[in-house]
Amino acid sequence: MGAIQALRGTRDILPEEVSYWQRVETAARDILGRSAYREIRTPIFEQTDLFERGIGEATDVVGKEMYTFKDRGDRSLTLRPENTAGVIRAFIEHHLHAQGGVQRLWYTGPMFRYERPQAGRQRQFHQLGAELVGSPDPRADAEVIAIATDLLQSLGLKALRMDLNSVGTIADRQTYREALVAYFTPHQAELDADSQDRLTRNPLRILDSKDERTKAIAQDAPSILDYLSPNSQKHFDRVRQLLEDLGISYQLNSRLVRGLDYYTHTAFEIISDDLGAQSTVCGGGRYDGLVAELGGPETPAVGWAIGLERLILLLQQQSLATAAIDFYLVSRGDRAEAQALKLAQTLRQLGFAAELDLSGSAFGKQFKRADRSGAVACLILGDAEADSETVQIKWLKSGEQEAIAQSDLPDKADDLRRRITDFREGA
Ligand code: ATP
Ligand code: MG
Repeated sequence: MGAIQALRGTRDILPEEVSYWQRVETAARDILGRSAYREIRTPIFEQTDLFERGIGEATDVVGKEMYTFKDRGDRSLTLRPENTAGVIRAFIEHHLHAQGGVQRLWYTGPMFRYERPQAGRQRQFHQLGAELVGSPDPRADAEVIAIATDLLQSLGLKALRMDLNSVGTIADRQTYREALVAYFTPHQAELDADSQDRLTRNPLRILDSKDERTKAIAQDAPSILDYLSPNSQKHFDRVRQLLEDLGISYQLNSRLVRGLDYYTHTAFEIISDDLGAQSTVCGGGRYDGLVAELGGPETPAVGWAIGLERLILLLQQQSLATAAIDFYLVSRGDRAEAQALKLAQTLRQLGFAAELDLSGSAFGKQFKRADRSGAVACLILGDAEADSETVQIKWLKSGEQEAIAQSDLPDKADDLRRRITDFREGA
């Protein structure tokens, strides 16, 4: 019998990679927390109806990608394909609107879509998202965008760009829709099958097509920006001005649409050219109609979701290595080994990251592991050090070595921390 393997489109995240995830999660928690966003955790499965209403039946996600099944009580359930719908359901169910003001919420966790797996596209994947619910102000749009770009920047990511658009309001889109139908109808036969279908159902979504021929035709389609009402135009101008004031650059992309009724005004994507076909790391925008669509009071909202697998691929590609351990301790001989164990604990209590070699093998072999560990320094204890209760510190990058008294470590902690930072930054 063959060994059981993980399902297609799912993957194990092994300890080597988990450190990247933890770094992203820590940075996100930090930035979102300091921006007054609070974490919300909602169930991984919901009534199918929530997503049909909250994402829209005309979308690929609802039409083709959902994991929907009947439970033993014959209810139709769906593994969440995204989490805005779940967050807004919770917002309404728990009357968070009754608390007045705005709710700033964030979440992270697994999402599920039945798609063709490839690099950066899986069936179980993870998103990190933020939602600012309750403000129609263009500053809210600018705030969420600034947080997304800050987060990506704080991780050291480079070569990201942002596409920005406005999809106006439902009323703006009514005339735009007619213009699109008029434009695409003569090209109908050349469009991909999905887009032909959308021509009558939801022509805006043709602009979203990934089919090369359709994309080429869409290049010359009318632009939504020519159909914005004065109020929508004003909102968009203000968002653009605020982003410019914040020093956040973007490119106008009038093909960037979210074709559903409850999406309004701002739409944006953060894109990397280092990700091949799956290039969008973060997608977001304003959705002033969703809360009401899901049965709550009219409430404006804006948010985004980052695809974590894609983000982590970028971190790995740009070798933005995770913070490794500070000290690797090698020791040989009973007394030295006992002292090294104690020293490792002291170092951790002082806030350092320390790994203890437990092999008891020859120093040469332990040194090789120290090199591979990614530690900044190796601490060495043999019989001589055990006798004198000292320890040799070898800085692995420079090869410098010095002896210090074990009891001096707490006093020298700040100095050691500085040197570790210097070595890391000099890397
Ligand atoms: P795409 O056009 O790449 O399918 P999408 O428009 O379906 O993306 P959204 O629903 O806006 O994506 O989700 C936000 C982000 O989540 C995406 O930009 C992407 O980074 C990530 N994402 C979406 N689907 C997947 C998937 N199947 N596997 C991995 N990441 C995904
Ligand atoms: Mg998709």
